[in-house]
Amino acid sequence: MRKPIIAGNWKLNKTPHEAIVLANDLKREIVDVAGVDIVLCPPFTALADVADTLTDTGIALGAQNIFWEDAGAFTGEISGPMLKDLGVSYVIIGHSERRQFFNETNETVNKRLRAALKNGLAPIVCVGENLAQRESNKTFDIIKDHSEGSLSGLSSEEMKKVVLAYEPVWAIGTGKTATPDQAQEVHVFIRQLLGKMFNTEIANSVRIQYGGSVTPDNVVSLMAQADIDGALVGGASLKAPSFAAIVKGAKK
Ligand code: PEP
Repeated sequence: MRKPIIAGNWKLNKTPHEAIVLANDLKREIVDVAGVDIVLCPPFTALADVADTLTDTGIALGAQNIFWEDAGAFTGEISGPMLKDLGVSYVIIGHSERRQFFNETNETVNKRLRAALKNGLAPIVCVGENLAQRESNKTFDIIKDHSEGSLSGLSSEEMKKVVLAYEPVWAIGTGKTATPDQAQEVHVFIRQLLGKMFNTEIANSVRIQYGGSVTPDNVVSLMAQADIDGALVGGASLKAPSFAAIVKGAKK
């Protein structure tokens, strides 16, 4: 049985003060944290304050990126030990916005992933096709390329700690959600791939989130799919009532 995991990706939103308000609102709205892992991923500048706010709540803290070196002359970067010291336990890696706007590649995703694992952080690794790729029937090729490239060289023990997020780029922030069947089809494909790359145990145990315009209205039908284990939520994670409703709806 895979425990559902709901993560809120706040992206480039919320000053530290606004983040404290949202985290406090979420504490009030999310009354029952049992049966689901909940992760909040504020911007780096709000991590310390949100960490304080979440003390003893059972809600985990995630970062939105990590650099692959631990320390050194890398102006503007944030490292694994820095995140760990703040109480971060998850890190989103290879989000499509990073691939699209910041030249993230499978190779850099792989380096960040290794840095996260080395520092005891659980990676949430994103894969997903864009609209042109879907319309030209390249979805599975892209998923294979992202998965094999990003997860390259990982041992089965390391892979057990990874969460995957299937995020069709055409569904992110657009209000166009993949249908439950469309998402399930890709999740099954990813599991089959994990079976080939690792083994059956990994294929069956790794959690795969769906991401792309998840709302309180569609979360239940998405979560009803056998291979969807949670959601990576952007827009709807910025309001406490909608994120809390998604968490509630995610309990299988
Ligand atoms: C995301 O940022 O990963 C995402 C899925 O965004 P949204 O929920 O807004 O589509």
